[in-house]
Amino acid sequence: MSLELVEPSLLLLHEDVGENYDAVARSAAAAVGAETCHLALYDAETDELIARRPSYGAASRSIPQYRFPISQAPASAQVVRTGEPYLSNEPASDPLYERSVKDRGVHSVLTVPVRHGGHILGLLYAINKPGGFTAEDVRTLTALAGAAAVTIENIRLYVEERDRRVLSESLRDVSRALVGTLSEQSALSTVLDQMWRVVRYQAAVAVVLEGRVLRVAASRGGDPVGEISLDHAGDLRATLLARKTAVLTDAATRLARLGLRGTTGRTLAAPLLTRDEVRGAIIVVFDDEHVPGPSDERVVGAFADHAALFLEAGALLRKERQARARATAVARITRMAASRHEPESLLQAVAPELLAASGADRTVVYLRPSRAQVLTAVAWGGTTPEEEDKITRHVLEPGTPLLAALLKGAPVLFQDEDNPPPAHVHPFAEATSLLIVPLGVRDQLLGAVSLVSTRRKVHFDGPAIEFLGDIAQQVALGVENARLFLALSQMASTDELTQLANRRRFTEALRRELGRARRTGLPLSLVLVDVDHLKKVNDTFGHPAGDSAIRHVAGALREARRDTDVVARFGGEEFALLLPGTDHLGAIKAAERVRVRLSTTLMDLVGQVTASMGVATWPQDGATEERLVWVADQRLYAAKEGGRNRVCGGPPPEGAPETGSTPGAG
Ligand code: GH3
Ligand code: MG
Repeated sequence: MSLELVEPSLLLLHEDVGENYDAVARSAAAAVGAETCHLALYDAETDELIARRPSYGAASRSIPQYRFPISQAPASAQVVRTGEPYLSNEPASDPLYERSVKDRGVHSVLTVPVRHGGHILGLLYAINKPGGFTAEDVRTLTALAGAAAVTIENIRLYVEERDRRVLSESLRDVSRALVGTLSEQSALSTVLDQMWRVVRYQAAVAVVLEGRVLRVAASRGGDPVGEISLDHAGDLRATLLARKTAVLTDAATRLARLGLRGTTGRTLAAPLLTRDEVRGAIIVVFDDEHVPGPSDERVVGAFADHAALFLEAGALLRKERQARARATAVARITRMAASRHEPESLLQAVAPELLAASGADRTVVYLRPSRAQVLTAVAWGGTTPEEEDKITRHVLEPGTPLLAALLKGAPVLFQDEDNPPPAHVHPFAEATSLLIVPLGVRDQLLGAVSLVSTRRKVHFDGPAIEFLGDIAQQVALGVENARLFLALSQMASTDELTQLANRRRFTEALRRELGRARRTGLPLSLVLVDVDHLKKVNDTFGHPAGDSAIRHVAGALREARRDTDVVARFGGEEFALLLPGTDHLGAIKAAERVRVRLSTTLMDLVGQVTASMGVATWPQDGATEERLVWVADQRLYAAKEGGRNRVCGGPPPEGAPETGSTPGAG
């Protein structure tokens, strides 16, 4: 008996645990003269025996072992339960023995317990001694078992310590890597890589739970993409519901869609648990021979816990960033809403903000033309050129039952499998979720914002809808303000009696058009018009009749006007006509047409109302606005002096007689 072979300090130098077991077994077999001798470990936690496999060879780096409930091994069970040796010189049946000698048969057996500190750590068993085992062999093997116990305990401590060190190093590396990354996918990939240092696996995947779907977020040794409905996940689903790490019995069939097709080893799943949520799982497929035990569960569980912590931190960080982004978005949109004076330009500026803030990939903003029953698209974002063509032709009908909520100021949401977006409420080829938020002010629907997702990932939840509602409120107020502003500025620049531009708007138009004329070199003509003898009309027929006469002249001027012309009431019974791109002769002709029209139509009661006109043209009559107005006024005066109901222009080129027309000449 050579005890030095099982000297603990020597054994501790052995890196490979398998060799340590061999050393114990070989020395024991020699000591009792048995064909073979082995050491089996007893796992009190699971009441199982763990034994070396006889097929152990250099091919596999892991320790081949098999594990079975002690209830399947009656002789071994007896030793574990009683703590007494078992000796049989008859053929015996026990899976522990049979596996150890393969097909040579078990003729005699001696098994002794390996004890340490009152616990049974395992069994030392010798098989097949020619002539049978003796009482002396029992004493020898029992003595050896004492040494083996110390050895096993030391090996266990050593392995535990080593595992703990590697585990803690790996977990530390995981933490380090996770701190630096915000991407779920790269974080989970790091976890799987680090886990490989501790757990030898064929394949491992990290799956995340999105709604009722488990999606592959990272994979090693399998396909990097795949998903499976939670309802079809079998044992994995049960594992997630039980929130416990467990071996999956149906992995080969169930998990092919998670990229684990073709893997053959045993499979363990550890849920990714955050405080109150199951966020996914880490699934490990072990090497073919490896039977996962409690330590595998602990290790994989530790990695899963780390990964879950990261996922939670990542989610919190994203939420925090999102909240900050939302606050700044609301501030920006509020500023825009207050500063844009045209509803459409406001909505065009807001569209990209809405897109960014919502997480949707398309947005369409609709406006309701005053008193219309439909909403038409005026701005959009995230769209392709082909889609834009369809968007401009798309309308929303808030009167339909599907969208009736909009009229009441409530958002409309389509996003679940049983409530997908119907084709007629969006202009896109496909949409997986769609949120329409009304733009309303005081019971009035001004328009709507539609946020569309063509991917599965965006899910509009309560807070998101509320936030978009807040933004929509600001946008709606902005639209309302812009409309009021337009109406007010319209009022401020329009003459009430004739609805023509007033003098202020005319002055602006003259400045603008003169600037343009200077840039383009095209002529610009100005006609000043004064109603003839209006005082007499007032005196004879009353002031209202005088007003009608003013409107009558305004009507004649409006009819003569082309698109680019500006007609204004200059004040009292005086009008102005601005003709961009029209030369002097052309302007005189235009004025003449108005004059003829007036002098040939009779007003009720008042009869004939005529007007006198003076024409001035840039560049020949003056370089400035004031000069042009002055020249036109001089010529108007000349027309009055000349007998009224006439048009006066400037002297024609080459010193020809002054261009003018005589009353009634037309
Ligand atoms: P002339 O042919 O020389 O221009 O004679 P006139 O009477 O039109 O010119 P005058 O400058 O002597 O008088 C202008 C009149 O136009 C006096 C004023 O009461 C009247 N008038 C100016 N604005 C209005 C208006 O808004 N409504 C009415 N009914 N009359 C107006
Ligand atoms: Mg007059």
